[in-house]
Amino acid sequence: MSRMPMIVLDTLGKLRADGFGLFGCCHDCDALYRKGDPHPIGGNFDIDLDKLIAERGPDATCIRMVTPPCPRCGSRRTGYRITAPTKIG
Ligand SMILES: [Zn+2]
Repeated sequence: MSRMPMIVLDTLGKLRADGFGLFGCCHDCDALYRKGDPHPIGGNFDIDLDKLIAERGPDATCIRMVTPPCPRCGSRRTGYRITAPTKIG
């Protein structure tokens, strides 16, 4: 049994403080990718956490937040995932 640390990541500022990141996924680009469009990485795109905090503030929620539009096609049919810290120790 592994115990998960109880970290409440509910704001953008907490994500950044703990080294987490965000990436987005565009449903429209992903749909093209699935249809066989020669698309290198599907609908995924990086979200610049610093830029998002600059726009929304560190206390902005990251729970069910509005994802930035897709940088490739401009679609707002996007979602997001939180990525684990890349720096360990
Ligand atoms: Zn897109």
